[in-house]
Amino acid sequence: MRYYSTNRQVPEVSYEDAIFNGLPDDNGLYMPDHIPKLSAEFFENIGDMKLHDIAYEVASQFIGEEIPEADLRRIVEETLSFELPVVEVEDKVYSLELYHGPTCAFKDVGARFLARCLSYFSAKSDKKSTILVATSGDTGAAVGSGFFGVENIDVIILYPKGKISKIQEQQLTTFGQNIQALEVRGTFDDCQKMVKDAFLNKELKEKYNLTSANSINMARLIPQSFYYFWTYALLKDQGDLVVSVPSGNFGNLTAGLLAQKMGLPVKQFVASTNVNDIVPSYLTTGEFTPRPSTSTISNAMDVGNPSNFYRMKEVFGSSWEAMKEGVKGYAYDDKQTAETVKQVYQATDYLLDPHGAVGYLGLKEYMKDHKGSVGVFLETAHPAKFGDVVEPIIQQPVEMPERLAEFAKRTKVATEIDATQEELIKILEKA
Ligand SMILES: *Cc1c(COP(=O)(O)O)cnc(C)c1O
Repeated sequence: MRYYSTNRQVPEVSYEDAIFNGLPDDNGLYMPDHIPKLSAEFFENIGDMKLHDIAYEVASQFIGEEIPEADLRRIVEETLSFELPVVEVEDKVYSLELYHGPTCAFKDVGARFLARCLSYFSAKSDKKSTILVATSGDTGAAVGSGFFGVENIDVIILYPKGKISKIQEQQLTTFGQNIQALEVRGTFDDCQKMVKDAFLNKELKEKYNLTSANSINMARLIPQSFYYFWTYALLKDQGDLVVSVPSGNFGNLTAGLLAQKMGLPVKQFVASTNVNDIVPSYLTTGEFTPRPSTSTISNAMDVGNPSNFYRMKEVFGSSWEAMKEGVKGYAYDDKQTAETVKQVYQATDYLLDPHGAVGYLGLKEYMKDHKGSVGVFLETAHPAKFGDVVEPIIQQPVEMPERLAEFAKRTKVATEIDATQEELIKILEKA
């Protein structure tokens, strides 16, 4: 498989180059040169297949010969070393719980796969690289955990000061060793821009062998498609599948669209956002208008310039009409989100986190007029990660999984910097 840039100003590259480059030099995004179709036989048997076998089949379509079968099977198994339960919340409404990994958010899936792919190629060539990653909360922890102790790879995490939850901050500032945290005086968009600008600076990129672990990296996207197949395998006999994806940078949704293009029978995708509704507005108006992000209680989705939008465009052949058919978009404010957490908890005993609640709302809105389908929303983080938001809503303590409680006990180590390129360069020089 070859990967092209959505801006089409640079040559196609291998999977290895695509994941080490992260971002193509023309500031586009890598996309596979064709989207492989899985066989009819695969879909006939999928109900009897194990998660790891499904995931391997999907991964091998994108990676081809570049990673031999035995290594790719190992990478897939190590990536998904935890469960992905699909839990019934109400009749025909299911939660795909993606938070059973080490940092309690779905980003573990992409980060663990990326870390293992990079480390596979690094071991072969013995090259050293530095991962730069901007985080709105959960990515930093997942990437830190995925790369912790990995040889030849240093990680620098940029996060917006005061704009992530306490436990998220504890997670990403307490790894030590090859993982460094930068507390940036600015927003997530500032952090993302600093990382992007560093990659666009050719000299800097080469000098420090910079690589990106953000959701723009293809190796983050590919494994996120696994769980759409898995969900289908579990629910396929229950009706037309509708999937609602609580979205920020739209990596998760894009991975779902790729799965659908590979032949996965998803009837409808729903893009659910908080008030940072750039994509839902695009679907309504045809105008893509990025703007500074607004802080919300679903902070991992506070994104004002969703980077995977250009990949979504590619999937739909740049047609707005096609995209608005393929994806329905809905946006919700904090009040609606909080009320939903409360109501669903009272009615069903199921505790949503604020991101999952946004996904639930979008799913229900679509399903109102589409009876007979079976709906799934992605539960992207454990509610205890957002205890400071969730506890006052349900007026009860939220039990913290042991692995989260561990992070809370450690000591924060972060370097505070201004949101400028000069400051970031100073850090790189010291590293
Ligand atoms: C990152 C994140 C999202 C948004 O995912 P995208 O792929 O960026 O759209 C949603 N929920 C949680 C908990 C997240 O960490």
